[in-house]
Amino acid sequence: MRVYGREFIMDSRIKKLIGSNMDIDFISDIKFGDSQCPWNVADGTNTHKCAVKNISICKYFCGVQLLDSVLCSYPHVAKSVLSSAEMDRDM
Ligand code: SF4
Repeated sequence: MRVYGREFIMDSRIKKLIGSNMDIDFISDIKFGDSQCPWNVADGTNTHKCAVKNISICKYFCGVQLLDSVLCSYPHVAKSVLSSAEMDRDM
């Protein structure tokens, strides 16, 4: 992927697959190198998840980046920090 200004240009050999069945969270053991969810830390809980299979996507979730980093905008909702060109559909 290359970035020109705010526009992302992907290599044409890469397919973008809509992932409505993804489960992504930071509730696993942080000994294995996971970061902590800043919303869970602020609330003193372990209930917030980035994406829940077939149910929801966190309002702070801004996507993933290779290899396995979650892009998180907490405490700013994703819609307020991403441009429409960075989203694959209306939220
Ligand atoms: S997107 Fe950010 S705030 Fe939301 S659950 Fe994931 S790490 Fe926590």
